[in-house]
Amino acid sequence: MTTSSPEDTERAAADFARTLLPGDCVCLDGDLGAGKTAFVRGAASVLCPGVRTQSPTYTIMNRYKGKCPVLHFDMYRVEDEDSLYSTGYFDVIESDAVIFIEWSKNILPYLPEHRYVISIVKDGESTRTIKCERL
Ligand code: ADP
Ligand code: MG
Repeated sequence: MTTSSPEDTERAAADFARTLLPGDCVCLDGDLGAGKTAFVRGAASVLCPGVRTQSPTYTIMNRYKGKCPVLHFDMYRVEDEDSLYSTGYFDVIESDAVIFIEWSKNILPYLPEHRYVISIVKDGESTRTIKCERL
């Protein structure tokens, strides 16, 4: 699908999030500024309404309270198993949380086998092509 504004992407993400269940893992790939964080913001509006989401660029992991816990990772700076280990990822990956992982490509060998992969491509200033796969 194609979106033509950040709000559009958030709406698409909110619709997608209505299908999510506790324990689901959602990986987000796309360049800097593609809209990965915008997508998580839209999804969070359904999973944890009223909660303010922020990019975990520096914190690596944000935790939001919803009907089930919602965890939001940014793996941009995570390059190896040791640095991944220290994020706490391995403690939460098989839990009842819904987990969003930006830059999931960086931790490909450690992703759960079953996951959603959202790929976002920036086609223009405000248009994005969003693809959703289920593995
Ligand atoms: P990422 O997390 O992938 O680095 P962000 O979500 O932080 O990206 O930023 C996306 C940027 O692109 C924001 O500045 C947003 O306003 C802008 N933008 C423009 N058009 C769109 C769109 N259709 N969908 C999502 N973001 C868009
Ligand atoms: Mg981001």
